[in-house]
Amino acid sequence: MEGFDVNRLVRESVRKLQPYSSARDEYVSDGSEMIFLDANENPFDNGVNRYPDPYQRSLKSVLSEQKGLTEQQILLGNGSDEVLDLIYRAFCEPNQDNIITLPPTYGMYKVLAGINAVENREVLLTKDFEPNVIEILKVADSNSKLLFICSPNNPTGNAFQKKEIKELLESFNGLVVVDEAYIDFSNDESWVSELKQYPNLIVTQTLSKAYGLAGIRLGICYASEEIIGILNKIKPPYNVNQLTQQRALQRVLHQDLVKQEVKQILDEREELIKALKNLEFVTALYPTDANFVLAKVDDAKKRYQQLLEKQVVVRNRSTQPLCENTLRFTVGTPEENKKLIAILKELN
Ligand code: PMP
Repeated sequence: MEGFDVNRLVRESVRKLQPYSSARDEYVSDGSEMIFLDANENPFDNGVNRYPDPYQRSLKSVLSEQKGLTEQQILLGNGSDEVLDLIYRAFCEPNQDNIITLPPTYGMYKVLAGINAVENREVLLTKDFEPNVIEILKVADSNSKLLFICSPNNPTGNAFQKKEIKELLESFNGLVVVDEAYIDFSNDESWVSELKQYPNLIVTQTLSKAYGLAGIRLGICYASEEIIGILNKIKPPYNVNQLTQQRALQRVLHQDLVKQEVKQILDEREELIKALKNLEFVTALYPTDANFVLAKVDDAKKRYQQLLEKQVVVRNRSTQPLCENTLRFTVGTPEENKKLIAILKELN
């Protein structure tokens, strides 16, 4: 990784861009009493009449301490979907560059490629749902800017082997984005600790899953200061609203509560797996490191409909490659899980 220069991967328009300078960029409050007449806000205080901190410093200062990174290695967004979109827009030249995705995987990578007019080169996971390293490196060329690795993977649930991700980090010539939306449910360590080692690594996380804050939309990107600097140039100035920053801060400061809920979800996951294993119409269960379980069933459409009639909504993932006749079950509360298991046992 010696001599890695991220600037060679940046879109020309972004490299040349003079970013928008917001009122809160030009004057940063030091906490003293000031009269703010610089941002055309309504002056009457209602708690949210002022623009939020464009760099979310309070939240980043806690996250940086927890993750052992600098604040300049963190970018926050309106959900990780916004973070992912910013990554495309910073590095991929429309109608010229390509990205590599590994289906079956999270569907937004493909949609974002379409939106950004970037070719999506798909390399199927192996039968064991692991990245096919040889094939990935074969389809990559000098215009392959991004490789998306979702680990633990949605919808299969498994975290990928460390060795294969390492090989890809060492051999792929673009940026490797490891999407860790489900990392807090896994026993594996986050790739955040490898950022020093790999300047081409970007790790995305979210408060939507284990942290229980899908409704506030807070996505996180960890990378080198150079990469974060580039993303900061193109992000909308006030992309994370004040209420989100406040709620997120409260939550990340209460790791004990998050851990307690995660433990309960993992216990419930075991109960669900046990029950699914005993059902005749379940023909395979895939290993999971996430808060959901992918199950192969005899007839996914029929089972999906039967559950719907019992007021249970699961996800039919059968249209995804390698996922024919599969249903994805998110782990609910103990009560919901109990109901689900009772309903599943009654189906025929
Ligand atoms: N990555 C993965 C793998 C996901 O499953 C999801 C949401 N389902 C996201 C990212 C997006 O999460 P967010 O709510 O942070 O936009």
